[in-house]
Amino acid sequence: MKKIELLAPAGDLNRAKVALMYGADAVYIGGKEFSLRARASNFTLENIEAIVEFAHKMNKKVYVTTNIIPHDEDLPNLENYLRALEKIQVDAIIASSLHIVKTAREVAPKLEVHLSTQASTTNSEAIKFWQELGVTRVVLARETTLKEIEAIKNKSELELEIFIHGGMCVSYSGRCILSNHLTNRDANRGGCAHSCRWNYHLYENKKLVSDQSFNMGSKDLMAIAQIPNLIDLGVESLKIEGRMKSTYYLATVIRCYRRLIDEYLEKQHISEERLAYYASEIAKAENRPTATGFLEGRPGISAQMYDNVAEVPTKEYIGYVLEYDEANQTAVIEQRNYFEVGDQVEFFGPQLDNTIYVVEKMVDALTDEELTVARHPLQLIKIKVPFKLSTHDLMRKVIT
Ligand code: SF4
Repeated sequence: MKKIELLAPAGDLNRAKVALMYGADAVYIGGKEFSLRARASNFTLENIEAIVEFAHKMNKKVYVTTNIIPHDEDLPNLENYLRALEKIQVDAIIASSLHIVKTAREVAPKLEVHLSTQASTTNSEAIKFWQELGVTRVVLARETTLKEIEAIKNKSELELEIFIHGGMCVSYSGRCILSNHLTNRDANRGGCAHSCRWNYHLYENKKLVSDQSFNMGSKDLMAIAQIPNLIDLGVESLKIEGRMKSTYYLATVIRCYRRLIDEYLEKQHISEERLAYYASEIAKAENRPTATGFLEGRPGISAQMYDNVAEVPTKEYIGYVLEYDEANQTAVIEQRNYFEVGDQVEFFGPQLDNTIYVVEKMVDALTDEELTVARHPLQLIKIKVPFKLSTHDLMRKVIT
């Protein structure tokens, strides 16, 4: 069965490394210029170079987003920036502007160009157009169904990248001005304020129609059940959304899809029980309701948020493993959330299966003072753990 790429987002250098270690084949990141997600802590050129080096050593890839709708004032440094990305050996840029695509082909010919979902590509004729301009991969619009993806795949020569998890736009991606209108923050230049997810009241002729507030956002996309179909269709890349997401969210979601993809590639079959298991793994980090987006057809009422009910993840992130001393069976943990002696916790990692353990004893790693609670963010704690942990494993506890 053909190998398929798992592509993950990263908002900074540390999260990019975690994404690659937890099973992504490639990461996409934003530079300081020409990128959406202005509020993500975007990468300097030095940081881009560092993550490219890190990824290439693992035989993995880095794509840099240059997907804003640029205005003239954005353009002066474009050529220099594209040449710099080519020199750093970035594997591709992700662009949607005709001008950025054309300029990249002219001034940085070794830089591959992927077409961003911001271009709303929903048909094979559009793909032929972009192919003529030198684009090598198209990120299809989230608004395409599995049937449409299959038809497009059969008629197109370019690689296809499909969103499988993360936030959805209630408008066509890249064509929303709600945020611009309500907050003066331009969604197409990286400033979306997620205005579709705010609470609204409905008025008619200044008269309140209902006491109940509502929002206009969609549920997040989760394509656990569609992964086998997407692999069978032969698309090249499966993409997770969320450059603003935390280390814990990324590690949980990426590792889950990594294991699901590998299991299906190995067995060429996956049971309903296993799909339910993978969905329950996602629920340990996902804090919004999910649906299947457009993959199974035009989304109905059940794919919308309307009443603003947030789901709570079933596990809480509490610690990051910095080191493990095998001789003393002691781990040094950097605290992320409150936990205490007696808590039932679960460790997991790139190589570590979920492993439950009850915290029996812990001390402050700097003072050796015995502790009953770990209450301070980033506090270094030593815990006795009778099984091998590795740096970058994570620790979570069941939320009661
Ligand atoms: S306001 Fe909502 S629909 Fe509009 S761009 Fe932002 S997330 Fe998408």
